[in-house]
Amino acid sequence: MSALPAVPFLILGQGLAGTCLALELERRGLGFHLLDDGHLHSSSVVAAGLCNPVTGRRLALTPGWDEALAAADQLYGDSPEWRRVGQLRIFSDSGMAGIVQKRRSESAYVPHLGPSHGPGSWPGVDDRNGSVEILSTRYLKVRDWLEGHTKRWLKRGCLSCGPVGESVLENVSSGTTVICCRGWKAALSPCWSFLPFESARGELRTVRDPAGFPDTRLLNGAAWLLPLGGGLWRAGATYAWDNLGRGPDAGQLPQLRSRLPVPAAGSWDLVAHENGVRPILRDRTPVVGPHPEIANLMVINGLGSKGTLLAPLAAARLADYLTEGTALPQSWLPARFTVTGKTG
Ligand SMILES: Cc1cc2nc3c(=O)[nH]c(=O)nc-3n(C[C@H](O)[C@H](O)[C@H](O)COP(=O)(O)OP(=O)(O)OC[C@H]3O[C@@H](n4cnc5c(N)ncnc54)[C@H](O)[C@@H]3O)c2cc1C
Repeated sequence: MSALPAVPFLILGQGLAGTCLALELERRGLGFHLLDDGHLHSSSVVAAGLCNPVTGRRLALTPGWDEALAAADQLYGDSPEWRRVGQLRIFSDSGMAGIVQKRRSESAYVPHLGPSHGPGSWPGVDDRNGSVEILSTRYLKVRDWLEGHTKRWLKRGCLSCGPVGESVLENVSSGTTVICCRGWKAALSPCWSFLPFESARGELRTVRDPAGFPDTRLLNGAAWLLPLGGGLWRAGATYAWDNLGRGPDAGQLPQLRSRLPVPAAGSWDLVAHENGVRPILRDRTPVVGPHPEIANLMVINGLGSKGTLLAPLAAARLADYLTEGTALPQSWLPARFTVTGKTG
């Protein structure tokens, strides 16, 4: 890689975190340069980009949903890759219908819960325990969205492709602030070795339905099927915590197939099998802010399974901190891990 440009902000990694931060700096008219290894280790290019207001068996409201969604709507704006999608949440057991009933009495859930449906309402779908429609679900076609910015910044000369070694920090100009947005790979960096990563590998398949199954909404059960149009669906996703660096793991696929909400989808034509690693910290909270000991070194990481929703808010808050000194949420600071190695 050629000499580093003397810019106010140098961003390492052009996944969702690095791209959202660069857009925030660009919006403020500030100079930046991005370095990325061509998405070699990127979680973002693999992600389905789903933003789900209620998750898990208990349909728990995603913490900070309204604020994070407002930031996402602002940053992704009118881009054609940012989409609304209907969602059918398919119950995994008979107790879930009761959970939905209870949720209906909580005001925070009202905007997100649509009609409930009894067992057997959807031909071809394994809805033996019933289902509920979830409103306000979004997704970002992450790969396409990133690619648009990659091309634009390459053309403008503010993105360089190639691996970044640890020595990069010794070569930056004194006036440059470095922001590390390297995803799960940051766990291997000595600077960030105090961050307790518990990252998780995941597999996704893209499949083609030869029979024209109705593709109007996300079908979300023990695994999910996201319609992409033209008979294409994304099917995901698995979790594994070992061998993070390995490529696509065919051994995980039987488990994924058996959990799909449309049993026939297990035999739809395979178009692609991809995998990636979600950058997750032990306390399941993002890490955003300054390194506790190294001046002018920042981080955005730990976006977990919610990078699409959280990256815009994290980037906006860090940009405010960098330009106006606005305090960051204490629960996001890297320093929460330094003293004892445990969250404080
Ligand atoms: C299977 C799967 C499904 C997912 N589905 C969803 C979903 O539906 N919704 C959702 O919100 N999130 C989802 N995620 C999670 C989402 O992908 C992450 O939260 C998010 O992409 C993290 O973004 P990031 O920018 O922090 O990291 P990354 O996307 O990993 O970006 C880091 C970038 O830095 C580069 N890099 C790393 N080291 C170096 C180096 N030394 N030199 C140069 N470049 C380097 C990498 O190649 C990469 O381009 C999913 C993840 C997986 C694995």
